[in-house]
Amino acid sequence: MSRFLSARFTNLEAYVPGEQPQDMQYVKLNTNESPFPPAPAVLEAVNAAEISRLNLYPDPEGRALRQKLAEHYEVNAENIFLANGSDELLNFFFMAFCDGERGVAFPSVSYGFYPVYASLYQLPAEEIPLREDFRLEPSDYCGIGKNIVIANPNAPTGRIIGVEDIERIVRSNPDHVVMIDEAYIDFGGESCLPLVGKYENLLVCQTFSKFRSLAGGRLGFAVGSPGLIEDLDKMKYSTNSYNINRLTMAAAIATIDHHEYYAANSRRIQENRSYTVKELDKLGFETLPSKANFIFTRCSGLDGGALYRALKSKGVLVRHWDREAIANWCRVTIGSREQMDVFLEKVREILEEVS
Ligand code: PMP
Repeated sequence: MSRFLSARFTNLEAYVPGEQPQDMQYVKLNTNESPFPPAPAVLEAVNAAEISRLNLYPDPEGRALRQKLAEHYEVNAENIFLANGSDELLNFFFMAFCDGERGVAFPSVSYGFYPVYASLYQLPAEEIPLREDFRLEPSDYCGIGKNIVIANPNAPTGRIIGVEDIERIVRSNPDHVVMIDEAYIDFGGESCLPLVGKYENLLVCQTFSKFRSLAGGRLGFAVGSPGLIEDLDKMKYSTNSYNINRLTMAAAIATIDHHEYYAANSRRIQENRSYTVKELDKLGFETLPSKANFIFTRCSGLDGGALYRALKSKGVLVRHWDREAIANWCRVTIGSREQMDVFLEKVREILEEVS
């Protein structure tokens, strides 16, 4: 830290992203990316013609992509906001809607960026404890009179709540914005997008980073009432009006056009998820029910940090947090069948070594 950093940031603890090692090839199951490359048509869309236009700024309104998304989700383009990854969207949500009077609430075990944004904007934040087995109890959020952000499915647990539960939360907090972060909704969960037309205080946040194999392109989007989208626009035009680059927009349009390719990949991930959970079961692991492209798992007698380190030394990366509430657990991204077989083989080796 230099002596020039504003005093308001001296206690800020920044988010620590999952490792992206550049030194060697790992079986990378630590940041919930898709193991599958983008559809071939996406590679064609980001072609020399598009690259030759990189001297020109992209459309700041992202009209073609918003129209494409609007058709896909059967909403209007004015219901859609584009962001440089859903992380940027979350930033704009906290920036636009939360302040000293309008605090924010989120689950105590959830995406690690929520408390970072709350701290960045010095907001009164309430971390609502999860119930037994990391279950989110919807009534804990009903009528709380705060802005709310809930990842559904939750991360890192993978657990999901139903659309009717979300509706209860949204309906009971009519004077606050409820942001449902659906980064992992396309791996067997039911989206609450159909509620957007009914509630002006609901924002649904999705990403191209997981289901749509575009983590490197950085694209997230929100769907909400036109008023909320206008507010997000105000934040965007006050920070970075060209937040989505040309190549990503071209890639994203081709991605939507090839939905079936991604849907088939998701089905494979879901099969690999069931397979991995079953195999871990046989090895004595306990795994939470997951509707995401990752699982949260633990093995009694084997500390989560020890498992993470042993796997890393064998070339397999998973995610582990030292935080006490989840220190025994590891989050494992579901990759290809081959990747999951390597993971399981290394787990078996480790269990033999420690026994
Ligand atoms: N929300 C949740 C719950 C996540 O796990 C992630 C991925 N780390 C994000 C949002 C951000 O994803 P991206 O910025 O790549 O869209």
